[in-house]
Amino acid sequence: MFLTSDSLNFNFIDEESCIEDLINNEVLYKHPKCVKCRKATYRYKKIWKCKGKNCNWSISVYNESIFTSSKLTANRIVYIGYLWLAKCPNNSIQLITGHSLATISSIIGNITVGAKTVQMFCALIYLCL
Ligand SMILES: [Zn+2]
Repeated sequence: MFLTSDSLNFNFIDEESCIEDLINNEVLYKHPKCVKCRKATYRYKKIWKCKGKNCNWSISVYNESIFTSSKLTANRIVYIGYLWLAKCPNNSIQLITGHSLATISSIIGNITVGAKTVQMFCALIYLCL
């Protein structure tokens, strides 16, 4: 079943709530403990940071995800993926999003090629459930 954008309950506009959704649905990794010193961590915007006073460990929330390979924010990438799943041709996605055809082709290429496919589909499937 393909849900309309209104019934998805997903904010394609806001990166922060997209990140929160992707973390809660285990599409993006949580980093509850610092890899370096094992102290607790916290998330500040797009970065996981260690709470340890003398530890400067940090890592991007997008680390090892499909979202690292693009300059676009996760919400924009998920939106393009959603339009692609709805079978919009690339030139329609270009008109709707304002991104170049090269950018759209690159993102759809990432969705459809290799191991990253699984992760992207997980992201989109949970939206469509
Ligand atoms: Zn640490």
